[in-house]
Amino acid sequence: MNNIFHFEFSYWQPFLLAFIPLLINLGVFTYVFLRLPRSGTNSIFIVFIIQLCIWQAIDSVVRLCQTEEQVSIWYNMLSPFINLVTPLSLHFALAFSENRKLLKKPLVHFLIYAPALFFIIANIGGFITYTIHSSEFWRWTVVFNDEPLPSVNAYWVSLLALITLIIFIQNTIRLKLNNSNGRQALLVAVGFGIPTIQGVTTEVIFPNILNMELIPLTSTFMSVFSACVIVAFKKYKLFSYSPQFAWSGIINNMREGVLISDYDGRVKFVNKSFCEMTGYNAYELLGKIGYEKYIDNAHYRQHVLEAIERRKKMISDRYQLKLRKKNGESIFCEVSDSPYLDKNGNNIGSLVIFTDLTYRKNTENRLMHYTHQLENKNQILEQFVYIASHDLQEPLRTVSGFVELFERKYSDTLDDNAKIYLSYIHGATDRMQFLIKDLLDYSRIGRKTDTELIECELLVKEVIEDIGKLTAETKAKIKIEALPEIHGFRTEIKLLFQNLIVNAIKFRKKETIPEISISYIDQPEHIIFNITDNGIGIEPEFKTKIFEVFQRLHSRTEFEGNGIGLAHCKKIVELHGGLIGVDSTPGKGSRFYFTLPKKIKDEQN
Ligand code: ADP
Repeated sequence: MNNIFHFEFSYWQPFLLAFIPLLINLGVFTYVFLRLPRSGTNSIFIVFIIQLCIWQAIDSVVRLCQTEEQVSIWYNMLSPFINLVTPLSLHFALAFSENRKLLKKPLVHFLIYAPALFFIIANIGGFITYTIHSSEFWRWTVVFNDEPLPSVNAYWVSLLALITLIIFIQNTIRLKLNNSNGRQALLVAVGFGIPTIQGVTTEVIFPNILNMELIPLTSTFMSVFSACVIVAFKKYKLFSYSPQFAWSGIINNMREGVLISDYDGRVKFVNKSFCEMTGYNAYELLGKIGYEKYIDNAHYRQHVLEAIERRKKMISDRYQLKLRKKNGESIFCEVSDSPYLDKNGNNIGSLVIFTDLTYRKNTENRLMHYTHQLENKNQILEQFVYIASHDLQEPLRTVSGFVELFERKYSDTLDDNAKIYLSYIHGATDRMQFLIKDLLDYSRIGRKTDTELIECELLVKEVIEDIGKLTAETKAKIKIEALPEIHGFRTEIKLLFQNLIVNAIKFRKKETIPEISISYIDQPEHIIFNITDNGIGIEPEFKTKIFEVFQRLHSRTEFEGNGIGLAHCKKIVELHGGLIGVDSTPGKGSRFYFTLPKKIKDEQN
C-alpha cells in the first residue's frame, strides 16, 4: 500500500495520451461548473463530467504503475465509480432532450441506476474479476475475465450507450427541424457519440466479442467530447435557454425588483434589479430585516408591517412605497405583494415585486407642467383675441362714424369719384366690424361654464324657426329624426346646429331645391350627429382647411360669409370633448358629422 505512489515515468507516451484529456476534461468541468446556474439538468451534466475525469484519472495513473499489484490497488479504488458514467449520460440525455418527462417516473430512475449499483457492489465485492496484462505500449491493460457477470456488465454498458445515442440523435433531428438550437444539440450528440462508439468498440466489442486485445483509447477520445461541449457552450449557448436556466434568467434579467422574505421580514432572496434599484448588494440584504434597510419613513414601514399581516391571511395587494437607496436618494415604487408558497403549498413568506416609478412619476410631472403651461398660454391667447377684438371695435366705430359724418356734411361738394371711394371705405369698415364681431364671438365660446340637459330635437326645431325666412326663400326641405337629449352648453350647441344647417342651405346647387336631413347614431360613449345635404359638395383636399378661422373656398360674390362659421362649430364640438368632420362628393352633397359625448368630463362641468 505504501508504494502506490511510486510511479515510473519511462512510459510517458501512454500516460500523456490519457493525462492530457484528463486535464482538458478537468478544465471543461471547472469552466462549466463555474458558469452554470445550479439546476437539475446541469447538475447531472456536471456529475457526468466528474465521472469522466475519474475514468481518465484511472487510465492515466495505471500507465505509471510499476507493479501489477499497484495497478490492482488503483483500479479497485477508482473503477467502481466509472460504472456510473453510462447511466449518468443516459440520465443527462433524457433531461436535455424532450424526453425529460420520463424522469418524473421513479421506475425510469430505477431502470437506469439499479443495475449500475448492482455492478458497483459486485465490483467492490470482487464478483467482477479482471486480469491485468502487461503490454508493450500501453504498459498495463485491465481486461475483464470472460465470465458471465463481467460480460453482462459490458453488454449493459453498451445498451445504455446505444439508447443515449439514439436519444441525442433524435433530439438533434427534432431541433434541426424546428430550426431552434439544432447546432448545440448536434454538437452535444457528436461530443457524446464519438467517445461512446469508440469506448464501446475498444473496451467492450474488441475484448468481449472479437477476443482482441483491449485498446484503452477512450480517454483520448474524451477530448472530442470536451471540445464539442465548449463550442456548444460558448458559441451555441448550450444550457442558456434550457427551461431551468430560463427561470433564473427571467428573474435576473427582468427590470422589476424581486424580493422574497419570511414573515419576520427577513430577506431570503433578491434579484439583480432589486440590488440595482436600492444600491445594496445581495449580501447586505440577505438574512436582514429588509424594510429596516431601505424604508426610513415611519408611515411606509407601518404599511409594510400591515402588508405582512395580510400576507399571513393569504391576501395579495398592490401599493406604492418610497424606498431609501443606500446612497440616501429616494425612489418611488409600485409594489405587488403576494404570499410566497413553498413546494407543498405552505404559506412561508412574501413575494414582493417592485416597479420603479421614478421615471414614470418624473414624466407625469413634466407632462403636468407642460399641460399647465399650455393651458396658461391658451388662456392668455384667448384673452388676447378677446381684448384685441373688443378694443379694435372702438377706433373702428370712430372711423366709420366720422366717415358717415364726413359723407353727410360734404356730400354736396364731393364729386362722384370721391363718393365711390367713400362707399368703399364704408363697405370695408362694415366688413371689418363683422369680422371683429365674429372674432369676439369665437373667443367667447366656452366662457359660460354651466352645462344643461338639451333636447336636441326641440333645439333644432327652434333653429329652423329662426331661419324661417331663408328656408322659405330657398324652399329648403329639412327632415329631422327624433333626436336624443344631451348634456352641453345650450347657446353653443344651438349655434353649432344653426351654422351647419345654414351652410347646408347656403352652399346649394343652382336650380336645385336644398334637401337636408338631420339624423344621429347612438354609440356607447357618444352620439354622432349627421347633417346631410344635396349641395355643391367639397373637394377632398379642403376637408380640414374649412374648419380653420377665416378659411373659405368661395368668393364673397358667389356665397356670402366670413369663413368663421365652421371654426365656431369646431371649437364648440371640441369644447364638449367631441370631434367634427365632413364626408363629401363634389357636385352631389356633403355630410357634416360631429360627435358629442354622452357625459361631459368633470373638468368641463
Ligand atoms: P362661410 O360659410 O362664412 O364661408 P364657414 O366656416 O361656415 O364659412 O365655411 C367655410 C367653407 O366651407 C365655406 O366657404 C364653403 O366653401 C365650405 N362649406 C361649408 N359648408 C358647406 C356645405 N354644406 N357644402 C359645401 N361647402 C361647404
